[in-house]
Amino acid sequence: MNPVLELLRAAVGPANVLTEGDLSAWEVDWRKRYRGRALAVVRPGSTEQVAAVVKACAAHGVPLVTQGGNTGLVGGSVPDASGTQVLLSLTRLNRVREVDAANLTMTVDAGCILQTVQETADAAGLMFPLSLAAEGSCTIGGNLACNAGGTQVVRYGNARDLCLGLEVVTSAGDVWNGLAGLRKDNTGYDLRDLFIGSEGTLGIITAATLKLYPRPAAVMTALATVPSMEAAVALLQAAQSRLGSGLTGFEVMNGFSLQLVRQHFPHLRQPLPPSEWTVLLEQSDAEGEAHARSLFEGLLEAALESGTITDAAVAETIDQSHAMWHLRESIPLAQAEEGLNVKHDISLPISRIPEFVERTDAALTARWPGLRLVNFGHLGDGNLHYNVQAPAGGSAADFLREHEAGVNAVVYDAVTAHDGSISAEHGIGMLKREELVRRKSPVALGLMRAVKQALDPHGLMNPGRLL
Ligand code: FAD
Repeated sequence: MNPVLELLRAAVGPANVLTEGDLSAWEVDWRKRYRGRALAVVRPGSTEQVAAVVKACAAHGVPLVTQGGNTGLVGGSVPDASGTQVLLSLTRLNRVREVDAANLTMTVDAGCILQTVQETADAAGLMFPLSLAAEGSCTIGGNLACNAGGTQVVRYGNARDLCLGLEVVTSAGDVWNGLAGLRKDNTGYDLRDLFIGSEGTLGIITAATLKLYPRPAAVMTALATVPSMEAAVALLQAAQSRLGSGLTGFEVMNGFSLQLVRQHFPHLRQPLPPSEWTVLLEQSDAEGEAHARSLFEGLLEAALESGTITDAAVAETIDQSHAMWHLRESIPLAQAEEGLNVKHDISLPISRIPEFVERTDAALTARWPGLRLVNFGHLGDGNLHYNVQAPAGGSAADFLREHEAGVNAVVYDAVTAHDGSISAEHGIGMLKREELVRRKSPVALGLMRAVKQALDPHGLMNPGRLL
């Protein structure tokens, strides 16, 4: 028996060191693309236990893979197949430590489910604005480790922008407490920003102090059909100028993505007829319903008159608003129902998105006739989920085996040519590691490797991910 297992049992208790039985919930990723085998699944219940686990692993040179809700989309959260990595699951670390309403902050353990954080803020009459379709199972530690985005970035920013402080267990097993809820702190290198987005490769986030916001007095949601991506960008500009910081969501969906939702989830009502593009927009207003409605409807009426939009449906109730968001959030699930696909989570300057889409659609469909494009995403942030579904009728697995690398090359070359990024919000993980080396400048990669070497000199934190 590996001697580290005894130390791990002593650190967290035998019941929280799993080595037998069905461990697939921890060993297989959400997309079922990565299937690993762990030396053990270890479930600490406190920061001190995390530190003890890290020290035990460091003493024996055993690598650790940290996992929150295991909803990541780039293969960062599961062990490799070697059976030598400890899978550190943080879901027992789930205490809300403090809500400080006057400071507009909340401090939580890293394993808190995002939805719990939202509900706790709501119960205090406040709001935590990070919101994404996996919020019922992803954890705040995972959100920060991948610097998650979601649906309200256009107003409130990414997970990074919503975090004031962190508590981290370093690769040596020391605890860094940086949880002070300060909005200003110019005392040298920003360690918090180093760990956010590091995908568990530099240390383990065990707690975070998060920014809260006042709840809006009214929220308006609408779907609008637009004739082109140019028109969608024009509508975004108009919404930004008329609504200002009241614009809290701006999503775009191509016709095929909503067609897949119609096909696989026919019970979901789609209030507008099929169109080449549909936009979902949301406004949050501090004054109240009447003020919100006059601004929102004024925007949509002007857009209809100018031909920027061709039709619109405004949600009249909270349930209708939720149903509109549910349509948008059902796209990845409808895509999964349709079969295997190639996902691209890309970021582009918003002004260049129409040209990118036109040229890249044309390049892909010319080379692979019948290929189907599921293009949707957070247009307000310049973030597209530009996904590629194999041609209908054939074997999607065969298509991916033969053409995934070619499809990626076309898409990522176009992203590079348009000054974009190959990862907007999902991270690098194992999925995009080689692509990162191809696309990032040698100087940037050198600096990143120097940081990794300094903070994790023995390479035991999530090895083989990101770098
Ligand atoms: P995991 O999947 O467990 O881990 C993700 C990465 O973080 C891994 O590298 C892991 O090692 C590391 N990690 C986890 N916890 C810690 C920790 N405490 N300390 C250090 N490292 C850690 N993302 C978006 O940005 N926007 C979206 O709109 C969005 N929508 C999604 C919709 C669906 C249906 C799904 C399944 C995923 C979506 N995602 C989205 C992906 C997103 O990255 C994750 O849902 C979430 O941020 C990951 O949290 P998690 O707790 O599940 O992390």
